[in-house]
Amino acid sequence: MTRFSAWNVIKNGFTGQSGWSRQWRDPEPKSHYDIVIVGGGLHGLATAYYLAKNFKLTNIAVLEKGWIGGGNAGRNTTIIRSNYMLKGNREFYEKSLKLWENLSHELNYNVMFSQRSHIGLYHTANALDAASRRYNIMRQTGSDAEIWSRSDLEKKIPHLNYAHDARFPIHGALVQKRAGTARHDAVAWGYARAADKLGVDIIQQCEVIGIKRNARKITQIETSRGSIQADKIAFAVAGNTSRLWQMAELGNLPIESHNLQAFVTEPIKPLLDQVVVFGVAGAHFYISQSDKGGMVFGGDIDWYKSYAQRGNLPIVQDVAECALSVMPCLGRVKLLRHWSGVVDMSMDGSFFICKTPLDNLYLNAGWNYGGFKASPASGWYFADLIANDRPDEIIKNHDLDRFRRGHHIDERGAGADPKLHG
Ligand SMILES: Cc1cc2nc3c(=O)[nH]c(=O)nc-3n(C[C@H](O)[C@H](O)[C@H](O)COP(=O)(O)OP(=O)(O)OC[C@H]3O[C@@H](n4cnc5c(N)ncnc54)[C@H](O)[C@@H]3O)c2cc1C
Repeated sequence: MTRFSAWNVIKNGFTGQSGWSRQWRDPEPKSHYDIVIVGGGLHGLATAYYLAKNFKLTNIAVLEKGWIGGGNAGRNTTIIRSNYMLKGNREFYEKSLKLWENLSHELNYNVMFSQRSHIGLYHTANALDAASRRYNIMRQTGSDAEIWSRSDLEKKIPHLNYAHDARFPIHGALVQKRAGTARHDAVAWGYARAADKLGVDIIQQCEVIGIKRNARKITQIETSRGSIQADKIAFAVAGNTSRLWQMAELGNLPIESHNLQAFVTEPIKPLLDQVVVFGVAGAHFYISQSDKGGMVFGGDIDWYKSYAQRGNLPIVQDVAECALSVMPCLGRVKLLRHWSGVVDMSMDGSFFICKTPLDNLYLNAGWNYGGFKASPASGWYFADLIANDRPDEIIKNHDLDRFRRGHHIDERGAGADPKLHG
């Protein structure tokens, strides 16, 4: 595989771009693998890469029913941050951000990670207390955080709605400067290419349609391209987790599948250099500007449960109202597209990377709105779990049993209602 380097870019410029090889192979599925990962999204691909890189395990297949990155990996608004507070989440997301900071070099693929700052607006004096608490925890645990006043914001982000009688009057913001965005497709392609280079088979158009098991383990996976056996099987199928779980006759998961929509406008000149977010009084909104100039934004999930990858109109109205309340200048910009993904919302808003009731099945799920930023650390710790058959200390409470133990990891304090954990 041709490495990306300044020298190869120059050389291919003179030779009609004829020296580049395929980005990854297109292998036929084998009848047996050491490890099969179901789901060719970011988490499945990252897991395969770290299994091969960190543990030298390479007899691995990633099975993807469509094309890699066609699920939530390629549908999200690409916000990356590590401003979590609770033990387990705090260390996990900080590890992820550190992996993001070197990911383009690590994968030899430009994932366009842009540390443009995450601006979490607050709108009341009470919210300053909550922002300060988060700020203190972040600073005390080795992360970066700043509190910006309203006048700081006015200087740095002039186009927000600073009117005192605004629907959501802006008082200030909790800022993480190392946070930002990345190009989602590039991350999927980068992990796929790097995993393939280490020997992993990435098999697209290969849907898992049945699972055979005995009392203790999965014995065979039925796919649209034939039967496959594996010593270890890992699910990383985002919004489809409960379907696979039921295929394995394991009952119900503490997860609900909901639609989350996203929106992009026509490209415009540079308007917003940061990621701006707010969540107050039932409203929820986040916005950034893509490198092509489109304003990329989203809000809450569609509150009914669904596996359909399309959203409903009330959320379009809700998100448009939020957009205009915080950036009225967007009123004259045309909306270009909107789309939806299926997100698996957990009961406490935190993820699962854990063993399961079956000896050879491992679970990666429950990413709510936040699995894009988590992808590198998710792959890192899931690979570690699969290879060593025990969870790392950092993720040890992110298991299915935590609700029985009363160990909820609920960043929002919203309680056991999945749709409230945005
Ligand atoms: C609109 C939207 C905006 C978002 N914004 C953000 C954000 O700004 N920041 C952030 O951190 N997170 C965000 N997220 C969440 C993030 O995108 C997801 O948490 C994350 O992508 C999930 O992991 P994944 O990439 O592995 O999932 P996916 O890409 O969905 O991968 C799962 C794969 O499994 C495959 N699959 C399913 N069933 C089968 C089967 N039976 N056989 C074989 N393959 C199967 C699917 O085709 C899919 O490709 C957003 C999500 C959405 C929908």
